[in-house]
Amino acid sequence: MDIIQLLPEHVANQIAAGEVVQRPASVVKELLENAIDAGADTIKLLVKDAGRTLVQVIDNGKGMSMTDARMSFERHATSKIRKTEDLFQLHTKGFRGEALASISAVAQVEMKTKQKEDEVGTKIVIEGSKVLSQEPITHPTGTSISVKNLFYNIPARRNFLKSDAIEIRHIMDELQRIALSNPEITFFMYHNENEIYHLTSSNLRKRIVAIFGTKINEKLVPIEEQTDLLKVSGYIVKPEFAKKKRGEQFFFVNNRFIRSNYFNHAVKMAYQGLVNEEQHPGFFLFLEVPPQSLDINIHPTKTEIKFDNESDLYAILYATVKHSLGQYNVAPALDFNRDSALDLPYQYKDKLPSKEPEIKVDRSFNPFQTEAKNRDWEALYTGINEMNFENPEIQNAGTFQSEDTYLFEHQEIKTQQIHNKYIVSTIKSGMVFIHQSRAHQRILFERFLEKLQNGNVHSQQLLFPVQMQFEKSEILTIKTMIEDLMASGFTFESIKEDYLIINGVPVEIEETQLQSIFDELINAHQEETLQSGFDYTVHLAKILAKSAAVKVGQNLQEREQEELVNNLFSCKEPTLSPDGKPCFTTLTIEELDRRL
Ligand code: ADP
Ligand code: MG
Repeated sequence: MDIIQLLPEHVANQIAAGEVVQRPASVVKELLENAIDAGADTIKLLVKDAGRTLVQVIDNGKGMSMTDARMSFERHATSKIRKTEDLFQLHTKGFRGEALASISAVAQVEMKTKQKEDEVGTKIVIEGSKVLSQEPITHPTGTSISVKNLFYNIPARRNFLKSDAIEIRHIMDELQRIALSNPEITFFMYHNENEIYHLTSSNLRKRIVAIFGTKINEKLVPIEEQTDLLKVSGYIVKPEFAKKKRGEQFFFVNNRFIRSNYFNHAVKMAYQGLVNEEQHPGFFLFLEVPPQSLDINIHPTKTEIKFDNESDLYAILYATVKHSLGQYNVAPALDFNRDSALDLPYQYKDKLPSKEPEIKVDRSFNPFQTEAKNRDWEALYTGINEMNFENPEIQNAGTFQSEDTYLFEHQEIKTQQIHNKYIVSTIKSGMVFIHQSRAHQRILFERFLEKLQNGNVHSQQLLFPVQMQFEKSEILTIKTMIEDLMASGFTFESIKEDYLIINGVPVEIEETQLQSIFDELINAHQEETLQSGFDYTVHLAKILAKSAAVKVGQNLQEREQEELVNNLFSCKEPTLSPDGKPCFTTLTIEELDRRL
């Protein structure tokens, strides 16, 4: 008996669509790129409900004839074959001529279009790959495509979409990338009727400023280098403005946005010594390479670009960035003048670290898998259980809630800080070494969690309210967290489109930490890994704790050390930091005896 059947076409279309259309932002990307390809100089993006209800792109490009309008929804229909050599072509290889076909397989699409030379335009309504109607209309030259109720016919995919804040962030990311690489085009973006962007035709520098705010202007350092292999241009951000989040890092290869850990690393190395480990320097780098030197491996969701001469490009990029940093006296303290990397591009090869950095791509990444965090947890805990305690009465002292963790004589903890990193103290069985930062994170984490869960707020009013500048999208993100932030002790005087004024902070937090806390909050909130079912309160408490906690390298007064020790062992779970790393370890006399 034969059992193999061809899939019905609408099913095949849906499957194919899954590769092109993952979320509303994918629709945005495809429609914007089509509008640019059509030669539009003004493009409007209208979004409703983070793209769930509507993504509409209106352009003033060349439009389509009636036949082409109808054809454009056919799979493999494209007017762009001649661009085969394009990076972009390769960038979406396999999907050429498939965008509109794929989108119309999973949404309700309405296209209105007219060419300059035609009297009348065409309106086509198509739903789940089925053309419902086609009629002549009056329409200005150009094209308007509305994509409504994305995944209306695939509830599972619809449910898979993340929060509005995350989906809109993805949409804004796509718009940003396209707007940065096409600064001469005017873009508008509206979300639920609110204007998010109005970017007028300009140059790259002004476009960057229009997107990231006026403050970035003075932070930009131009960069320019031309070699046979590679032309680099654009801007890098001065190291002192490096951020905790990666938001402002953009690579464009032959004017198409790409991600590249490898190139990222080159830039990071060039900034080495100028920014610390957790900070990410900003950059807007445009690389131009001969198209034939590209070799692109395509994965439906992840584009990996390989260059024939990758390590050469790495070296040039590294040296160019380093050169700019030196040239603009951004880092006068470094001896750039004697740095041989300056002699680039001719002598770079032997001047660079011979070992190339590894790029890690997690191919087995599974967003549904939760991390196995508490591996050593029980072992540690048991260890403490078995300890002897010096003074049993202390159990009644009230500071220690858990007898398991009751280690010290309460009144007289003798502590010593070593290497501004660990607090050491003697206990009956030997010694305990406490990681000061993790311990403090644990303490603050439990406090914040308690506040968030019980609404037990202590806010500290600021004498001078602090104004903080953000991107519009970041403000949207903050707005989605506002209730939790208030529950943890923040108070806001006002929240505007691209800045907010804070007039109260949780007592545990210093004013100087505000920027990094908010950067981290926004960052974490926008991370892809946020799945539904994820406990946001716990996460917020973690970030607040991490940002506010004492860091490694910080000197602590004796009183502070004692407080830290005391507070740690008053915690419900003193053994582990909120990230699941041990807060302390012990060394018993027996162990010492064995060693000596
Ligand atoms: P591709 O862009 O890969 O060619 P698409 O499915 O995105 O494939 O589009 C199919 C075709 O429809 C395009 O090649 C182009 O001719 C036409 N098209 C799509 N969008 C527009 C637009 N906004 N203006 C003019 N023509 C368009
Ligand atoms: Mg296209």
